[in-house]
Amino acid sequence: MSQALELSLTCPQCSTEFSHPAHTVVDMADEADSEALWQLQNGSLNKVSCPNCQAGGIIPVPVVLNVPEQQMLLVFTPGASQMDEDQLSEAIGPVLQPFLSSVPEEKQAEYMFRPIITDDPAALQQAALGQLSGADIIGDADDAEFDEDGDDDDDATEEELSPEEQQDLSARMGLLQQLFTAQDSLERISLMRASGDLVDDLYLEVIALVTEQAEQAQPELIPTLQKMMNEAEVFIASSNN
Ligand SMILES: [Zn+2]
Repeated sequence: MSQALELSLTCPQCSTEFSHPAHTVVDMADEADSEALWQLQNGSLNKVSCPNCQAGGIIPVPVVLNVPEQQMLLVFTPGASQMDEDQLSEAIGPVLQPFLSSVPEEKQAEYMFRPIITDDPAALQQAALGQLSGADIIGDADDAEFDEDGDDDDDATEEELSPEEQQDLSARMGLLQQLFTAQDSLERISLMRASGDLVDDLYLEVIALVTEQAEQAQPELIPTLQKMMNEAEVFIASSNN
């Protein structure tokens, strides 16, 4: 489905007002979207220049990318990692809902209702180029750089945990270690997606705990941990929609 919005824009340089269409859906299964897909692949989708002063840029609108081959629905949302759950659904709803209702019932798939949200334009472009293979990423992820500390310490909280809870914790710790081997945000999101049932409130607690420990032991990990926290929060928010 080709979906474009006619937007009123104001040039940030010279304040000229003009209108321009912006693509908000690129469906790789739809022939009608092949030109938009090509533009996405070469980074020119939603590029606009001012008719008066020629100042150029990308229109900051959400873009839904449907990748049926990867069972993936990616929603590029400018500023997503700074948004809370309500702001996210407000930003995404107007482009996502029309897309979902345009998909014939027999073509609707479960993954479409678990969209992956990213605010990284490079991730969107990579996905459009098919440079994302879930299987490859999982295969590369067993060599964890992250060193888990304090295993042998007597931990008061550990004693209160049942074997099941202990198992839940280790599973999430394992996922976190996997994510540390990822190159970028897109890879991490893809890994989270592969283990979607582990990405929950407990997982957020694990990140918070590890972050706390890293503040002393490995402060260089903090920026990555903070990104992981943001991405996990966005992931959870988008899964609940
Ligand atoms: Zn201008």
